[in-house]
Amino acid sequence: MIDVHVTIPKRGNTISYGPGKHEYCKLCGSQIHFVKTRKGKQMPCDMALLRGDGKRTLIDHAGVTHRKASNEVFGYEPHFGTCPELRRIREHSKHKEGQHV
Ligand SMILES: [Zn+2]
Repeated sequence: MIDVHVTIPKRGNTISYGPGKHEYCKLCGSQIHFVKTRKGKQMPCDMALLRGDGKRTLIDHAGVTHRKASNEVFGYEPHFGTCPELRRIREHSKHKEGQHV
């Protein structure tokens, strides 16, 4: 059983669902937004515009996904990679399979 915590935004905050609008991660409650990739997919990403560090995956303003983005790349990091709750769930399922991290 996975316990999912949903943070309910304070009154006055507008939540709009849909592409290009701000949304909240259903797992950790972080504010996220959708970035359209070149393939036309809406990718939930963190709000912060980041610079590549050679490790992280970033999606730039043109919708290009940069794996191991160099420091010349500015973009948004997919929330799948940064969500603490999702990471916890993943680690939990790894343990179930008997793998050690
Ligand atoms: Zn999250």
